Amino acid sequence: MTPEELAARLAGVRERLAEACTANGRRPEDVLLVAVSKFQPAEAVAAVAADGQRDFGENYVQEALEKRAELAADPVARDLRWHLIGHVQSRKAAQVAGAFVLIHTLDSVKLADALERRLAVTGRLQPVLMEINIGAEPQKAGVMPEAAQALGEHVLWACPHLALRGLMCLPPVFDAGEAARPYFARLRRLGEDLRSKLGIAMPELSMGMSGDFAGAVAEGATIVRIGTDIFGPRPAKGAAPVA
Ligand SMILES: *Cc1c(COP(=O)(O)O)cnc(C)c1O
Repeated sequence: MTPEELAARLAGVRERLAEACTANGRRPEDVLLVAVSKFQPAEAVAAVAADGQRDFGENYVQEALEKRAELAADPVARDLRWHLIGHVQSRKAAQVAGAFVLIHTLDSVKLADALERRLAVTGRLQPVLMEINIGAEPQKAGVMPEAAQALGEHVLWACPHLALRGLMCLPPVFDAGEAARPYFARLRRLGEDLRSKLGIAMPELSMGMSGDFAGAVAEGATIVRIGTDIFGPRPAKGAAPVA
């Protein structure tokens, strides 16, 4: 993909995102676009950053840190805002804590505690989202909807260095457009419910990817995570996206 092609694709995504916002009475500036760069080379990130994109998402800790090291000398891409959107093992907590503007995938007490221990040493505050297994699929990452309140309470009471900012989900249907929408609606309702039960603002809903972001915006997404529509198909380095 040439820089020109990437620029055109990014502009197209921004346009469709803006349309989805106005169609639903929302302001485009209220929905954050995270460009998902997993399996994409650092040069592609640099090109998209040169077009003004600031927020990028990665799934794998190792890949993310290596790519960022590659970009450290690039004046445009060295200060990007990196989001972690893939599953994190607790033993990786030390590498992750404080290294991302937002961790979208907090899904266990064990991970919360491991992050908290690390953050307490540095005194940093780490914004996080709870990943919800919104389709209650047995093999999938994320906390079950009915267990989200308990995890949220644990974060509030036992993890003073974690700032719980909202919820994230990957619906059970992939690239399915409107078919994903009931799951997005479910995440929004769960967010409203938890907000009142936990008594905190928790404003963010991270939901919507290339194949379904319009429906996510209609249901209240504040963050969309878009890879393929910006970067093109992923190089077949790894496997399918990890849920
Ligand atoms: C890969 C991935 C995305 C982006 O998916 P696309 O279909 O390429 O837009 C978004 N969120 C998560 C969690 C992912 O793993």
